[in-house]
Amino acid sequence: MMQDNLFQKIIDRKIPADIVHEDDRCLAFRDTNPQAPVHVLIIPRKVIRTHEDITPEDQELLGHLHLVASQLAAQLGVADGYRLVINCKERAGQTVPHLHMHLLGGRDFRWPPG
Ligand code: AMP
Repeated sequence: MMQDNLFQKIIDRKIPADIVHEDDRCLAFRDTNPQAPVHVLIIPRKVIRTHEDITPEDQELLGHLHLVASQLAAQLGVADGYRLVINCKERAGQTVPHLHMHLLGGRDFRWPPG
């Protein structure tokens, strides 16, 4: 079962986070259990539980998240190669019911991801 939406608590500043970007539509902060030298989560302020729940009205927002990811990759020094991951539902490893994009960089990555 996916736990409470703790990312909403980060948006509401009820729990702390190492925030690296913030604007009117999204927030980005460092993952507390990093899987690479750079591991940032990019989340929309809007609550979207899973990737399957996106709708056509979210199209611009999703594009914005990608632009922020690209800018952060440069800002955090991993523009030479990085990976973006969105886990959708428990079977894919999603643990927090609030859409989030993982930005991972600073090391080599393998494929398939496992
Ligand atoms: P996922 O497994 O795709 O749902 O990703 C959830 C991510 O959130 C995991 O990589 C966790 O390490 C990360 N995480 C959990 N709690 C926090 C927190 N309070 N601050 C930052 N990252 C967190």
